[in-house]
Amino acid sequence: MAGTRFDVAVIGAGPAGSACAASLCRRFPGLTVLLLERTRFEEQRIGEVLPAAALPVLRQIGFSKERLVGMSSSSHIASSAWGDARLLETHHLFSAAGQGFHLDRNRFDAALCFHAEASGAQVRRACSLRAAEREGEDWHLELSDGASVLSRFVVEATGRRCAFARGQGVRPQMLDRLIAYSRFFREGECDEKSIAIEACRHGWWYTAPLPGGRRIVSFLSDVDLARERGLPSSEAWTALFDETEHVAKLVHDVECGDEIVVRPASTGALSVAGGDGWLATGDALASCDPLAAQGITKALHSGVLASFVAVDALQGRAHEAHSRYGALMARHMEGFLRMHAVHYAHEMRWPDMPFWSRRHGVRLEEAA
Ligand SMILES: Cc1cc2nc3c(=O)[nH]c(=O)nc-3n(C[C@H](O)[C@H](O)[C@H](O)COP(=O)(O)OP(=O)(O)OC[C@H]3O[C@@H](n4cnc5c(N)ncnc54)[C@H](O)[C@@H]3O)c2cc1C
Repeated sequence: MAGTRFDVAVIGAGPAGSACAASLCRRFPGLTVLLLERTRFEEQRIGEVLPAAALPVLRQIGFSKERLVGMSSSSHIASSAWGDARLLETHHLFSAAGQGFHLDRNRFDAALCFHAEASGAQVRRACSLRAAEREGEDWHLELSDGASVLSRFVVEATGRRCAFARGQGVRPQMLDRLIAYSRFFREGECDEKSIAIEACRHGWWYTAPLPGGRRIVSFLSDVDLARERGLPSSEAWTALFDETEHVAKLVHDVECGDEIVVRPASTGALSVAGGDGWLATGDALASCDPLAAQGITKALHSGVLASFVAVDALQGRAHEAHSRYGALMARHMEGFLRMHAVHYAHEMRWPDMPFWSRRHGVRLEEAA
């Protein structure tokens, strides 16, 4: 592949990168598109609630609702104990646009990547970006398999890693240090099928059923507070879980593995949406607290928008396209932050506990 030249290289095949690559290939069939993915989708992926609001953008890239069959189940009741010790049925934390889905996230991401490939993108799996340098009008990209390619434009879609942007000296500004500790359970036949959210003194819990009779249970807290409680040890996790009022009652411990999957879940954004010959999309551009379960929808949407900006840039309209995209994404983030503040203001039971006091009146700060 040495010396191969692409019009656009998309780095990262999560929902944002695959949506961007599929949109580029379907709307602009003359373009050559490389989609680079670090994994073979074998590592456990987290983030399984797909609200119905995601369906129109999936349709836009030619990925029909029927494709979700076999990798998802319908979303049932959502309830939360948030601002109140009682578990109440709620719709405000999740989309009210109709019935959503519980995804097998690995299969969903792999299927979207395959869709981008079937749409015409050249996909390289198990292959990371190692280094990127500007060479005249092109990017010179070094890949982990030893190959190097040229690309006229790069879309940064590596999620919270921001691998490409950091290489360009652009860092995310973070609002918090939220982190998720998740465990998977096998469900018995009669188990409750609902999603539940429960606030506690040190953070909050969520649990959701998954296709294939599994259930995810996650505890979210700030990394320093979680470490003080002994996380990520499974004993510490279980001790906190046993203190829950509602979540523990929904989970029946059948064949539960001990593994705790740890993932960052913080809110933050890059200081700029892109630069000369590149643009960021999805979580790489702006990542959000998963309380609202909007990350996948937002990633798909911004991936499609990024495809239009990339084409504008290739056609010599980089400046206006970049500033429109940057302004739109900044507005989305402001909207999210307003909603985030409202959600956290609903929980006032522990105003002196650090997790909650940090969220009652916050501002973006440069990550350490
Ligand atoms: C605990 C938790 C729960 C969540 N729950 C939900 C939920 O219920 N619903 C929801 O909508 N959202 C949820 N989210 C958010 C959602 O998962 C993300 O917003 C979404 O995955 C962002 O998509 P993305 O494509 O931008 O990034 P990612 O999904 O992170 O994809 C990035 C891709 O880039 C690849 N990559 C990374 N580095 C490189 C490299 N150097 N070279 C090549 N490839 C690379 C990665 O392997 C990955 O495939 C949750 C998040 C967390 C942390």
